Amino acid sequence: MSQDQKPPLVVSNVVFFIVINLLGLVVAPLYGLYVGFSGWTWAFAATVWILSGLSITMGYHRLWSHRTYQARWPLRLALAIFGTFSLQNSIYVWAARHRIHHRHTDDVDHDPHSIKSGFWHAHIGWMLRHWKTSEVDFNQVKDLEKDPIVMWQHRHYWTLVWAFNLGLPIALGLMVGDVLGMLLLASAFRLAFSQHCTFFINSLAHTWGKRTYSDEDSSRDNGVIALLTWGEGYHNYHHSFQADYRNGLRWWQFDPGKWLIAAAAWCGLAHGLKRTPKFKVLRARLQMQFKELEARLNEHADDETWRATLEHEYQQFKDTVAQWQAVQAERVQAGADALKDRWAKTHFRTRYKELEYRMKMQAARLASLQRITQSATA
Ligand SMILES: [Zn+2]
Ligand SMILES: [Zn+2]
Repeated sequence: MSQDQKPPLVVSNVVFFIVINLLGLVVAPLYGLYVGFSGWTWAFAATVWILSGLSITMGYHRLWSHRTYQARWPLRLALAIFGTFSLQNSIYVWAARHRIHHRHTDDVDHDPHSIKSGFWHAHIGWMLRHWKTSEVDFNQVKDLEKDPIVMWQHRHYWTLVWAFNLGLPIALGLMVGDVLGMLLLASAFRLAFSQHCTFFINSLAHTWGKRTYSDEDSSRDNGVIALLTWGEGYHNYHHSFQADYRNGLRWWQFDPGKWLIAAAAWCGLAHGLKRTPKFKVLRARLQMQFKELEARLNEHADDETWRATLEHEYQQFKDTVAQWQAVQAERVQAGADALKDRWAKTHFRTRYKELEYRMKMQAARLASLQRITQSATA
């Protein structure tokens, strides 16, 4: 449905967002300024903010929506409970919509929060009206029905929401003598702020940033959004390799979601962490570098030296990819048994390493070429 024929409002959502944003972003700061919050209130609000945000990243998103790793029940239970604090619907509903977003990214007729329907729609508008695209298709999440924790959270979702966002802060507020402060800071402000941070992934991370690995959809890598969303800002990587438990691949990229999943695996709480083969990541990155250089050279068609250099690099790239495909085919042909053999194992491992190294060096050369052509054409 196009946005011109607007469907009716979802009154409960409209009222909720108005109230929570007024209380959280206007009343709470004023209350803090004129009355102040107790230390306990700050501590509780910060703890809930961190744990609920991480639960959306590690649980709702990377564990249940994408199955990028497997987790033992104590971790799953903690992620389901703390995720409920975020008021972003049950895991079952969240994952169903999110999987559709990945399958039909940018498609205005299917993607629930397509950026092609506008920034506002992608950010929050998709929840404010009965859009056809916002309907939940539970056929997407049949696998999650086998997880008793997911179904338990879905069945008792509203009880848990009220208990955690109203009951718990009131109880703690009574204990420390700051009920209103608890409700304003730990519930209203924390909810409004963290929800907008998550919504930025659907709006900003599809608008602002770099397309490092693919330009087939609108997703972008953005370090600023990663800071606000426990690592989810590297959205172009995520859309390119959604089965990977990592979003920020490089060591310097802020991705606490990735670090904590790795830590959970180290403690025995998680296993089966999926990683995209290094070569595939490098191949995607190089392809984007070639595209960018090609586009820049097309603006300066007269420069034959650059063109020849680029052509030469591209031939080399194609050659490396062909060699990698040959090694892949050789490995499949050798069969799983051959990989038990020590020599065969070393043979394949070193071949992959060699090809990855070639790609890495070429990426560095292309980056240098990008800088040179950039300064020359600036
Ligand atoms: Zn995703
Ligand atoms: Zn997205």
